[in-house]
Amino acid sequence: MTDRSLPPGLHRDTLAVRAALERSQYGENSEALFLTSSFVQPDAETSARRFAGTEDGFTYTRTSNPTVASFERRLAALEGTEAAIGAASGMGAILMMCMGLLKAGDHVVCSRSVFGSTLNLIGREFGKFGVETTFVSQTDVAEWKAAIKPNTKLLFAETPTNPLTDVCDIRALAHLAHGAGALLAVDNCFCSPALQRPTEFGADLVIHSGTKYLEGQGRVLAGAICGSQKLIDVFATVVRTAGMALSPFNAWVVLKGLETLGIRMQAHCAGGLALAQWLEAQPGVKRVYYPGLDSHPQHELAMRQQSGQGGAVVSFDVPGDTPEAARANAFHVIDSTRVLSITANLGDTKTTITHPATTSHGRLTEEQRQAAGIGQGLIRVAVGLDHIDDIRADLSRGLDTLRH
Ligand SMILES: *Cc1c(COP(=O)(O)O)cnc(C)c1O
Repeated sequence: MTDRSLPPGLHRDTLAVRAALERSQYGENSEALFLTSSFVQPDAETSARRFAGTEDGFTYTRTSNPTVASFERRLAALEGTEAAIGAASGMGAILMMCMGLLKAGDHVVCSRSVFGSTLNLIGREFGKFGVETTFVSQTDVAEWKAAIKPNTKLLFAETPTNPLTDVCDIRALAHLAHGAGALLAVDNCFCSPALQRPTEFGADLVIHSGTKYLEGQGRVLAGAICGSQKLIDVFATVVRTAGMALSPFNAWVVLKGLETLGIRMQAHCAGGLALAQWLEAQPGVKRVYYPGLDSHPQHELAMRQQSGQGGAVVSFDVPGDTPEAARANAFHVIDSTRVLSITANLGDTKTTITHPATTSHGRLTEEQRQAAGIGQGLIRVAVGLDHIDDIRADLSRGLDTLRH
């Protein structure tokens, strides 16, 4: 028999379509979907060894499943980590990480600008179990440093952030974490491994909402953690016990999504940059937030960390003398669109438009929103694969008829 195992040193594009478990005895070219909750054991002795973990083999899908394992292997190959583990959603992945790493009396330092549910999960829910969290500025490394205590176990960041696209310095935060004997976890949802691989800059763990770009077509929820085999083994115990397991069906959809991730991200980024540049030239636009623009405060850092790409999330402010006037203008732009989807999701082929102040950040007080820089005139567009001319025309309808 000739050796048909994948040779070492393959490019990321190849791994995106090839990395997976071995084919089944049927020789399928597209990876199979093993939609089964349990696995039949050949005999009682083998069953005992597999349940004891002394022999490899599938037993029950809460513990592991071949389709989920293929997704994990492919994602780990793209992130360049030893291992990965799937979760039912991005939030399920963060829950799994916190359960695996933290106990009462531990301390976490977390960016103030992370995803809203992440803020609530780490700050409020884990607060109930005696885990203390200090929230700090996304971009001020000195603030992170000052927040570290002897019991700090975890630093958690997300870059770029939603919706203002602030970029943090992964290498600097990894250095701080390791100096304190803590781990750095980075939510890589906005860039995906096609653009940014946080462990290359020293991060220990990478968090994914597979719901976004990894899947790419807005169909299913999924999540994952990538990292060393040793850390992933800790999380495997958590998922087996706590049950935030990734469904094989969803794993299969995201596994197939990973095959086109590279070319989709190129197209998403080209659209994002073109839209950001055009918005900057519009008289109806006050300010544009996009890491690919020279005007972005962390432009150079973003280009270094993100393979020279800005991503596909573009936010901008429309004017208004009062918060009410700014909100009326933002609603006018959103409601004048006829093509873009008015929805808070992102990472979809369909371009989406949203008003952060009344959706993702709607439950904050106006004061908290001001502090976070989320004004009533702010609009977020996540550029999909619609033609850029149609996106611009759709936004022009409202921008050209604003009341200044
Ligand atoms: C959507 C999102 C999450 C949560 O992912 P789900 O799959 O919706 O649970 C976490 N972090 C970021 C940055 C996100 O955009």
